[in-house]
Amino acid sequence: MKDSPDIAEQLRLLRENYAQQLPAKLAQMEDAFRQCDNMVELPNLRHLAHSLAGSGATFGYPALSVAARQLETLVDSALCDGRPLTPKESDTAARLIKTLGREAHNPIVPAPAPALPASNLPETERKLIYLVEDDASLATDLMLQLGHFGYIVKSFETPKQLLETPVDPTLAAVLMDIVFPQGDLAGPEAIIQLAVAKQLRTPVIFFSSRNDLTARLAAARAGGAAYLVKPVDVGELISRLDSLVTDLPPEPYRVLIVDDNSPLASHNAVTLQSVGISTDIVTDPMTILAHLDDFKPDLVLMDMYMPGCTGAELAAVIRQLENYVLVPIVYLSTETDTDRRLIAMQLGADDFLTKPITPEHLISAVSTRLRRYRVLRSHIEQDSLTGLLNHAATKDRLTTETARAARQQGVFCLAVLDLDHFKNVNDTYGHLIGDSVLKNLAELLKRRLRRTDIVGRIGGEEFVVILPDTDAKQAIQLLNELREAFSLVRQRASRDLTFTTTFSCGIAEYQLGANANDTHLLADQALYQAKQAGRNRVILANSDERKGDGSGAFHAL
Ligand code: GH3
Ligand code: MG
Ligand code: MG
Repeated sequence: MKDSPDIAEQLRLLRENYAQQLPAKLAQMEDAFRQCDNMVELPNLRHLAHSLAGSGATFGYPALSVAARQLETLVDSALCDGRPLTPKESDTAARLIKTLGREAHNPIVPAPAPALPASNLPETERKLIYLVEDDASLATDLMLQLGHFGYIVKSFETPKQLLETPVDPTLAAVLMDIVFPQGDLAGPEAIIQLAVAKQLRTPVIFFSSRNDLTARLAAARAGGAAYLVKPVDVGELISRLDSLVTDLPPEPYRVLIVDDNSPLASHNAVTLQSVGISTDIVTDPMTILAHLDDFKPDLVLMDMYMPGCTGAELAAVIRQLENYVLVPIVYLSTETDTDRRLIAMQLGADDFLTKPITPEHLISAVSTRLRRYRVLRSHIEQDSLTGLLNHAATKDRLTTETARAARQQGVFCLAVLDLDHFKNVNDTYGHLIGDSVLKNLAELLKRRLRRTDIVGRIGGEEFVVILPDTDAKQAIQLLNELREAFSLVRQRASRDLTFTTTFSCGIAEYQLGANANDTHLLADQALYQAKQAGRNRVILANSDERKGDGSGAFHAL
């Protein structure tokens, strides 16, 4: 359902389904009511009324919701007192059930849904960069350097060439020199021409050996997003590009919908999907733990009353899980009783939304909390120097990936990377330059890996990459490509001084039955072997080592 383009059609089908099931539900209700003298059927009657109250309005039956809600309240008060319905209550109930029967034939066909906020579908990857530079060797060098980070560079020798070429729609940014043989400000002038012709919608970064106000002013007037003085520090250029080029779309928010009423859950899911939120549905509350592990929700939308256990009880359970202490839990319920709401909130939920809820209200209430949660979580999980996952978060992801692979009999690889002789870098160039090397490696990993890959910094100069659905052979090839690319990145120590540096890497492929520590240990041992064997290499751990046969434990590559 996640990828279906026609949300309106899905909603229509859900409504149709609901309408088809209504007569059977009403018949059940009448049965329960007929037998309710003996008290046994009263809870069932309450449950049926509750379910209709919560769902009716959503599927086009607002008056049905109202009547069902009255019936629920009436039965509820009898149940709370532990007595059957009084004759007067019975009369009212009979009347309400009649109303329900009538309203079931009276759906309101909804007007075309109001335009929902634009979907945040992932943008296509934007990696194409135009480079305009008359110095051929500098251009070639920049092309190579940017290539290591996954950018594709098309180079132009003169601004005129750029002007004569139709702009590629996938263009991400322009890197423009200032001074050309054609003029001391030919670069910015060309950009203005392009802008006037409405040819250019992408950011422009100027770079020049000129560092005077006239040049900077010209660049600013041409709308330059950044100005770098030559020689260009690739690390700085990459970080400018990354902040300007939003080609790494944010991961979609994930909402777990817990509701025993399956059509209602689907309806809310489709509503949230219409704005790009991905959803997972739990109709049997007893299965929630597996859903939490697999789906890793950013928010739980929780029904209050379900068979088996209540939403409040589930919220309390979720709060006991270390990873979910912070995840927002929002009740979506017909409960209007303030005391009961309060009690439910005390068990660890964040808010109460009342059923029925309009799509717009649901989206806005959920989105606000999702944004806050992501910001909060990033502060907790991210390493401040590199923006990668920190040690604890990485460990957590490794545990999750292990559990998933075990359950699905799947495969993944864990790579542990450690910079070679990094102490020398610090000793020779200073700690700050060391830091920029760490940042450059982080950028390279982020840019060159898939979105589903997990990258963390687990120690000073030690990094981890988790590659889901990747076997050893693929992992070795990928890590070797990264290793080679990184070894060619020119790290800048000062204006006139650059150096290169390398990393070593140990890879372990997940073995069925292994826990997260086993896999990590194997990768660590392989890393140690890579260091021993001379550094700047990738070594795959031999899984037989874990089983203790000890023979030729590692394959050097
Ligand atoms: P090897 O090839 O065996 O890994 O040698 P190495 O020098 O990289 O390893 P060692 O463990 O001896 O030194 C690690 C160095 O990493 C020491 C420490 O100063 C540096 N380091 C750790 N964290 C940071 C950091 O956040 N920033 C900087 N600049 N350096 C760091
Ligand atoms: Mg329910
Ligand atoms: Mg090291």
